[in-house]
Amino acid sequence: MSSSERSLAGVHVIGAGPAGLMAAETLAEAGCTVHVHDAMPSAGRKFLLAGKGGLNLTHAEPLGAFLSRYGARRAQLEPLLAQFGPQALRDWAHGLGIWTFVGTSGRVFPDEMKAAPLLRAWMHRLREAGVRFHMRHRWTGWTSAGALCFETPQGPLAVAADATVLALGGASWPRLGSDGAWQPLLEARGIPVAPLRPANCGFDVARPQPDGTLLPGWSEHFRSRFPGQPLKSVALSLPDGGAAAPRQGEFVITATGVEGSLIYAHAAALRDAIEAQGRASFLLDLLPARAPEQVGREVAHPRGSRSLSSHLQSRLGLAGVKAALLWELLPREAMADPARLAGAIKRLPLTLVAARPVTEAISTAGGVRFEALDGQLMLRDLPGVFCAGEMLDWEAPTGGYLLTACFASGRAAGLGVRRWLAGQRA
Ligand SMILES: Cc1cc2nc3c(=O)[nH]c(=O)nc-3n(C[C@H](O)[C@H](O)[C@H](O)COP(=O)(O)OP(=O)(O)OC[C@H]3O[C@@H](n4cnc5c(N)ncnc54)[C@H](O)[C@@H]3O)c2cc1C
Repeated sequence: MSSSERSLAGVHVIGAGPAGLMAAETLAEAGCTVHVHDAMPSAGRKFLLAGKGGLNLTHAEPLGAFLSRYGARRAQLEPLLAQFGPQALRDWAHGLGIWTFVGTSGRVFPDEMKAAPLLRAWMHRLREAGVRFHMRHRWTGWTSAGALCFETPQGPLAVAADATVLALGGASWPRLGSDGAWQPLLEARGIPVAPLRPANCGFDVARPQPDGTLLPGWSEHFRSRFPGQPLKSVALSLPDGGAAAPRQGEFVITATGVEGSLIYAHAAALRDAIEAQGRASFLLDLLPARAPEQVGREVAHPRGSRSLSSHLQSRLGLAGVKAALLWELLPREAMADPARLAGAIKRLPLTLVAARPVTEAISTAGGVRFEALDGQLMLRDLPGVFCAGEMLDWEAPTGGYLLTACFASGRAAGLGVRRWLAGQRA
């Protein structure tokens, strides 16, 4: 089938997630003609899913701490966040009639803790501003003449654009639309892309054996009882974490390992260690509110005829999945030795052997390398083509840092297009 060619003058934004929609809004407010394309039947599907978890929009911590969450990419993201940072994002949401509040952890949520009201109000405002949406339009690359190619329900389509913003997302949760299929399309045009890897992801565990070998996964007993169970009020530290204080929080047992916010907070370091050494470990404090001496005293307290399980439960409140994890990971002789057992309650080593696949992760590391972009987020080798959002090569923990950087880069790409078009006309 030959593709029909249309000249839809204006700026074409591909990807109707937070980054693409923010780019579209930034362009529409300057009077540009804006077309937004998305492969899915409706906009913002991952954003809506994020809303199911409460929609952690941003974080209220001091800006220096906030910027540090972007690790090695802080320098690249700082100028974008200076233009549209956490407070600007909250003000913008208020402008849509969505009030926000700061949770006890400093995380910022909409009052209703949902994405749908915000997205609905935003889509309405974008349509009122003249933004035209083309859903079920899957971008598949460029024609030899540089037109954008789409697969549409009406067949292939080629569109000439004044400028383009690619905001195609990462590769996690592909059924929501972002599948990373853009990677080879950009690489074919010589654009360097860092491999897409899981970020904020779960991990598969292994159980070290006395002979030093590793047995993959949980035991049959543990796997049949504990997946889905949360370990609450625990603390996690990395063995080489130096003086870094253990971080408190919670995580969940899965069929093959562990996942959840406390794991995500360390996921980048754990993933990198597995890639380098084939395994990684962390130390779990099952009772962070209790000092090691107190735990030692309680474990050593004579237990008479009581079983060890009921002793741990009555002296320390250790029961359920926390106690089961000790039985799962400690050799019998360590369980029988009060000093070793008390030590393990405060510093239980867990061994991880694989990050879960990127398709299951909350977000994606890797993407279009910043060296390929100018300060306006335009691809140096493809003038007039800008990139924004999670498809860029940065990562951050959960806590609102992901959405904030997606909005900020969408805003920056929109401003970049405006400047570039003004330069073209001059
Ligand atoms: C379960 C879950 C919970 C989350 N919770 C939070 C949270 O609370 N706080 C937070 O900060 N972050 C959260 N995130 C992360 C956040 O949702 C993403 O970082 C953010 O949506 C990325 O925005 P984006 O615009 O870059 O990409 P996306 O939102 O992924 O949007 C990209 C769009 O591009 C479209 N697209 C892709 N390829 C093509 C193509 N070839 N042609 C046409 N269209 C295409 C997709 O259909 C999609 O609509 C969560 C993620 C998940 C999975």
